Amino acid sequence: MQQIFNYINGKLVSAQSGNTIEVYDPSRGVIYTHAPDSDERDINTAVEAAQLAFPLWSTLHYNQRSQFLEKIAQRIEEKLDALAAAESLDNGKPYWLAKKVDIPRAASNFRFFSHAITQWKTEMHSMGSQGFNHTVRSPLGVVGCISPWNLPLYLFSWKIAPALAVGNTVVAKPSEITPYTAFLLSEICMEVGLPAGVLNIVHGLGEKVGKPLVDHQKVKAISFTGSTAVGKRIAIATAPVFKKVSLEMGGKNPNVIFADCNYEKMLKTTVQSSFSNQGQICLCGSRIFVEKSIYEQFKQDFVEKVSALKVGPPTEDKTKIGAVVSKPHFEKILSYIELAKKEGGTILCGGKRAKLDDPYQNGWYIEPTIIEGLSYDCRVNQEEIFGPVVTIMPFETEEEVLRYANSTTYGLSATLWTENLTRAHRMAGLLESGIVWVNTWLLRDLRTPFGGMKSSGIGREGGEDALRFFTEPKNVCIEIE
Ligand code: NAD
Repeated sequence: MQQIFNYINGKLVSAQSGNTIEVYDPSRGVIYTHAPDSDERDINTAVEAAQLAFPLWSTLHYNQRSQFLEKIAQRIEEKLDALAAAESLDNGKPYWLAKKVDIPRAASNFRFFSHAITQWKTEMHSMGSQGFNHTVRSPLGVVGCISPWNLPLYLFSWKIAPALAVGNTVVAKPSEITPYTAFLLSEICMEVGLPAGVLNIVHGLGEKVGKPLVDHQKVKAISFTGSTAVGKRIAIATAPVFKKVSLEMGGKNPNVIFADCNYEKMLKTTVQSSFSNQGQICLCGSRIFVEKSIYEQFKQDFVEKVSALKVGPPTEDKTKIGAVVSKPHFEKILSYIELAKKEGGTILCGGKRAKLDDPYQNGWYIEPTIIEGLSYDCRVNQEEIFGPVVTIMPFETEEEVLRYANSTTYGLSATLWTENLTRAHRMAGLLESGIVWVNTWLLRDLRTPFGGMKSSGIGREGGEDALRFFTEPKNVCIEIE
């Protein structure tokens, strides 16, 4: 198996310590390769390389930067099969899902920002005959991008592409749990001739690599996606030096279903929004509130559909639910199912480890699980589980369900099912979340602001918001009288 290396100053290198960390195949529960166990020294070298590359990259004509991003997008598309296989091996997600969603989206991220930078314009504020202001937006310098394991290349590229597009150089840290496609991205950057030091990818643990990246004096901004706990530590570390941060964090998203919805569409989509990627998408709806008049019908149909989802090896086309990403995560999810029982919940389906045949018998598989009978404010309904586990609860009025939906500390996304237009607008306005989907889920337009409220995030990614985050605005005021 190919060993994973850091990508620093245009070269593939080991950690300076010479140490490595083990990388697991969740589908079998075995180590399949090793990645660099980097530390502050590797971060320092990467930041130095990025600093050296900055004057050239930031002054390159935007068309040339755009062309590099386009070439990366094309190479990702050419390597679709290999990248999808790597993502599936590393993460445990079905191969077909990585091929259909993760890898095409990574290519789209680079292509989107390759185009965006050629169309970007900044503001001019006229003061009539007195004068005018124009806003100059300059790249920040060296920026840090830190990403999680659930959508590895998808989220990694979502940060790197806009940062590079506007002329920053980047030191990026993928999750230590899923480093493989970030490594393959380094190879792609070398193949397309990206100048040395423009993008540096340093592998390793959060405390040993992420923390020194966040703390580094020369790193001007941190774009982070991950847990609220780590986001909070980054906020505390960066506040005293006023470092620019964008924090995309956890969620506990409500899925609110009214009796007047398009029932068949809702049912099909709710299966997806609950269990896609083993429920390990920050946007999955894990608390399902159903209007009382259709609750029993929904419960019966939902349980029937979810019980039929095939849990299986990620390589098989029929598999709908692959392995969860790691042993600690597997244990965490199971512990929440136990907690649900203690809190008075009834397991309607699933609720335990799924046992597969040889050679997958030690993989980390969990049956898709539906729980009912819990109060909206119990721990299982307030804390992020991030696995194939959902709860269902009846409600009678809009006021009641809004109270339930908004009761958590999180505010990332919400899904709303109703054919009543005025109710849809009313509820969308009152739900405390950065994204509200009405009669759909995960429909994405890359131009829109993406991010969460409350403990789910600070700042927004996507489109113009990402370009703005990665630049510093300066107003130039000119008097012409
Ligand atoms: P995590 O917070 O444990 O790790 C995320 C990244 O931060 C990893 O690369 C990790 O190594 C690094 N890290 C850890 N400690 C650090 C430190 N002290 N300083 C700097 N970096 C450090 O999250 P995870 O378990 O990888 O991912 C799951 C979480 O991500 C869930 O909470 C999920 O909701 C969230 N998530 C949010 C979004 C979003 O858009 N809001 C998207 C995907 C995932």
